Amino acid sequence: MSEQGPLVTARGVAKRYRIGRKTIEALRQVDLMAGTGEFLVIHGASGAGKSTLLHLLGGLDRADAGRVLFRGRDLSRMGRTALARCRNLEIGFIFQAYHLFPEFSALENILLPGRIARKTVGPLAGRAAQLLDRVGLGGRSNHRPYELSGGEQQRVAIARALINTPALLLADEPTGNLDPITGGHITDLLLDLRKEFRTTLIMATHDQAIGRLADRKVHLADGCLPAEP
Ligand code: ADP
Repeated sequence: MSEQGPLVTARGVAKRYRIGRKTIEALRQVDLMAGTGEFLVIHGASGAGKSTLLHLLGGLDRADAGRVLFRGRDLSRMGRTALARCRNLEIGFIFQAYHLFPEFSALENILLPGRIARKTVGPLAGRAAQLLDRVGLGGRSNHRPYELSGGEQQRVAIARALINTPALLLADEPTGNLDPITGGHITDLLLDLRKEFRTTLIMATHDQAIGRLADRKVHLADGCLPAEP
């Protein structure tokens, strides 16, 4: 863990999904802590609960038991507006399937979290253009997602996740839809930007090579994590 203390902590977190009469225990009593500036990798087989855990750590969903503390604040006790604001300003999400808005250009997609945060338009547009350059897509600002390759779409999604300079980046299999070479470039970019922005990065990935680059890695199996030392 980093020397600057915890940024996000899960304590005794459990999550169940109910489908008809069936209950799926997606997470059972999970304890996990990520420090400020840390790069933490979550490994685990498909269905182990990685996405569910990332969603809870980022306040996209609520746990059935336990607590998630972000900068000491319990996400489950935040009202909807405060939680939405926290997610918008302090947490960036990167998904396997990019999740860009198809009707918006690359630049407009990047701007969106800043517009939601009501940031001043001029400086925001300047920052979005800088980020687009930084991810290597300076010439693609007016392209729609369908006019971009998968790797390019993920670059836009990374820039979008960073527009509000979040303290925490959550990446769910960010290279899962990409060929190995493009995936390698995306990983390099993400790790460079994490250093540049001093952002905590929690990444779910099957890729053992990425795990070797992490400050720490944990292995989720059937909704359980071994206890943190
Ligand atoms: P991973 O990201 O490791 O592949 P997930 O967190 O997506 O795992 O899923 C964990 C378990 O929870 C799986 O058994 C999955 O089928 C189930 N699950 C995930 N999301 C839902 C949902 N919205 N409704 C019902 N079951 C779900």
